[in-house]
Amino acid sequence: MPFTQLHKELDDRAALGLLRRRRVLESAQGVHINVEGRRYLSFCSNDYLGLANHPQLIAALQQGAQQYGVGSGASHLVSGHFAAHHELEQALAAFVGKPAALTFSTGYLANLGVVQALVGRGDTVFADKLNHASLNEAMLLSRAEVKRYRHNDVAQLAQQLQEVKSGRKLVITDAVFSMDGDLAPLPQLLALCEQHDAWLLVDDAHGFGVLGEQGRGALSYFNLASPRIIYMATLGKAAGVSGAFVAAEEVVIQTLLQNARSYIYTTASPPALSVALMASLSLIRAEDWRREHLLRLIAQLRAGLSDLPWTLLESATPIQPLQVGENEAALALSEGLRARGIWVPAIRPPTVPQGTARLRISLSAAHSEQDVAQLIEALHELAC
Ligand SMILES: *Cc1c(COP(=O)(O)O)cnc(C)c1O
Repeated sequence: MPFTQLHKELDDRAALGLLRRRRVLESAQGVHINVEGRRYLSFCSNDYLGLANHPQLIAALQQGAQQYGVGSGASHLVSGHFAAHHELEQALAAFVGKPAALTFSTGYLANLGVVQALVGRGDTVFADKLNHASLNEAMLLSRAEVKRYRHNDVAQLAQQLQEVKSGRKLVITDAVFSMDGDLAPLPQLLALCEQHDAWLLVDDAHGFGVLGEQGRGALSYFNLASPRIIYMATLGKAAGVSGAFVAAEEVVIQTLLQNARSYIYTTASPPALSVALMASLSLIRAEDWRREHLLRLIAQLRAGLSDLPWTLLESATPIQPLQVGENEAALALSEGLRARGIWVPAIRPPTVPQGTARLRISLSAAHSEQDVAQLIEALHELAC
C-alpha cells in the first residue's frame, strides 16, 4: 500500500521537528484569542492595523450581504463581476497611484496570474531568493527562464540582467520580506529595470496599509512611480479582509483580464467582501494613528529585546523575527511562551533557510504598550 510510504515521510518530518500542525481558534482574530480552550496574547497574525474584527468592517460586510447576497455565483468574466468589485478596483488603483487595478481571490492566485500572463517561454524572470512561495511557484509555472539572485543583491541582479539578450524580462520581489521583515531596495531595482528594459513586479503583501503616506504602500514609502512597475498587494493582511489586487497600466490590466488563468477560471470572491474592503480602505486612509502607534510598538520591542541571546533581525516593519537557529530550540521557545499565555509562532525550514529557525513576532496597532512589555518580560525569563 502507498500508505506505508506516506506514514514514513510523516514520521521522518516529525523526527526532524518539522511536522506542521494547525491550532483551532474559537474567537475572532485579534490581540487576545481563544485557542483550544485557552486565552492567549497573540503576536502571530498579519492583521497589522487591527481591522480584521473592526465593527465598521463587520457592519459593511453585513450590509454587503443584504445587498448582494453571499455567493458571487460565477467567475468575473461570466456573470460574477459586481458593482462592488468594480468600485473597489477603481478605489484601489487611485489609492496606490496607478491607472487601473484588477482584484483576485487571493494573493497566491494574483501572483500566479500576473507572472503567467506576462511572461512565457523565451522570456526571463529574475527573482530574489527570499521571495514568497507564491512568486516562486508563479515563475516556475510561467515556463520562462528563471534566474534567482541572492537576497537584495542588486549587483548580482545587474549581472544577470546584462547576460540576457532576448525576450521579455520581469524582475519580481517582495517589497517587505514576509519572514524577515526587511525591505527590498526598490529604487535601485527600478533603476536596473529602466536600464535593461525590464518590468518590476512588486509584491507588497506586508506593506500595503502599513507603509507610506496614509498606508498607500511601498511605492509611496519610496516615492516611486513608473509605468514599468506592476504593483500587487493582498487584502487579507493589514486590510483585514481577504483577497488581493494588481495595479498597473491599463494595457497590463487588460492583458491580465485576457490571459491570467487564475483570474479567469475561478469563482469571483463574494461581492460583500468588496463592500467590507471599501470600509477598510477608508479606515486605512483616515487613521494615521494606527501606523504611528505601530511605529512606537516596534521601537519599544526592539529596545526591549536588544540584550537577548538570540538575534533580532534588522527590521523596521511590524514583522520582527527573533532568529534562534535550530528547529527544536525555536519550537521550545515558542512552547515556553505558550505556557505563559503568549502565542508567537516558530518558523522553520523549508519556509526559511536551514539553521535560521525563528520566532516570527508580528505586531498590530491593536496591541497596547503593556502587551509588548509582557512579551519582552516573558522572553527575558525564557533566556535565563
Ligand atoms: C501572504 C502573501 C501572499 C499570498 O497572499 P494570500 O492572499 O494570503 O494568498 C503573497 N505574497 C506575500 C509576500 C505574502 O506574504
